[in-house]
Amino acid sequence: MKMYEYQATGLFAEEGIPVLSGELVCEPKEAAEACRRLGGRVVLKAQVLTGGRGKAGGVATVSSPEEAVREAERILSLTIKGYPVKKLLVVPAADIREEYYLGLTIDRNSAGGVCILSSQGGMDIEELAATAPEKILRLPLISDEMTEDLSVALRRVFPRTEVRNQAEALVKALIRLFRRRDCLLAEINPLALDCRENLIALDAKVEIDDNALFLHKDLAALKEDETAEERSAREGGISFISLDGTIGCVVNGAGLAMATMDAVHHFGAEPANFLDVGGSSDPKKMVLALNLIVGNPRVRCILINIFGGITRCDDIARGILLAAEAVDPSRPLVIRLTGTNAEEGKEMLEKAGYAVMTDMTEAVKKAVALAGGPR
Ligand code: GDP
Ligand code: MN
Repeated sequence: MKMYEYQATGLFAEEGIPVLSGELVCEPKEAAEACRRLGGRVVLKAQVLTGGRGKAGGVATVSSPEEAVREAERILSLTIKGYPVKKLLVVPAADIREEYYLGLTIDRNSAGGVCILSSQGGMDIEELAATAPEKILRLPLISDEMTEDLSVALRRVFPRTEVRNQAEALVKALIRLFRRRDCLLAEINPLALDCRENLIALDAKVEIDDNALFLHKDLAALKEDETAEERSAREGGISFISLDGTIGCVVNGAGLAMATMDAVHHFGAEPANFLDVGGSSDPKKMVLALNLIVGNPRVRCILINIFGGITRCDDIARGILLAAEAVDPSRPLVIRLTGTNAEEGKEMLEKAGYAVMTDMTEAVKKAVALAGGPR
């Protein structure tokens, strides 16, 4: 889950990382009022769930409420990398002497955390990574403590003791946040040194591991990077991702769900979603699954693909019957059942008038045909 800068700034502040406190606004008029309240020069910053706002014109420094109105109007009309700007953060303009980069993320190669540090932070960090990668230091995070390598790196980047002490405290706080909140990313760019020699986080980028969101109820409530369907699926314990195709898929097990999508694609159509009902035979999940799919107007056929291992096919059949009663699918259903108690399940469904298949390939081909044939 990606967080907005204003939300991530709140997490930074909780850990004692120095940030500028500002005001969140939605209207140009409010931006002017915030500018008046904060006094002097302020920075207006587009709040979007993507980076590169500065380069896209989403950050502006203004000196008067009148200018704040004009700039707020302009920024609020921008769409940055597909995200329309709906909110602005207004903060006092810091006097920046230096811009550093500090980020913590997961290094999949070493299967651990990594701290990335540079004395040349700011908007051109991606370019720096390409042209002068030696200027970007990467230090593995071994424990919650500062490692020797990290201390050496901090001495290189912050030669002056005064500033280095602040940087050390800041890195420790960021590591704490990274661990406590199960982050995939906790990034400060720029980490600015102001004219009073204070380090301040001028930007805050945090991404939380979705798989850990259930541990962080306060953050889960902020989640916006999912569709309404994805949200109700998550709340109902189903893994669901909306896609663009025409075949609604209801599958048990993530692996089989992916294999099903591959097969649909292979036979010339596209899945309308990824859906894993999980290992349980809870009929309520089948009702929710069908509801999620039926709500999508693009769906032309519903493919239910179940391999009964721990899940029993007779329980699944009961779930399907219950779901079909509760939700009118109003599209053809293709049901494939195999595994534990498949015979019992098949009998129940056939008695209710549903055809049941055993072979996955045949079932997928039939679903593709019912959805209008291969492309
Ligand atoms: P990004 O482009 O999405 O990473 O957005 P940032 O928040 O990093 O802003 C881009 C640039 O605007 C930064 O590199 C800074 O140079 C500048 N900037 C951002 N916030 C402030 C601020 O509070 N005060 C001042 N003076 N400049 C800022
Ligand atoms: Mn930034």
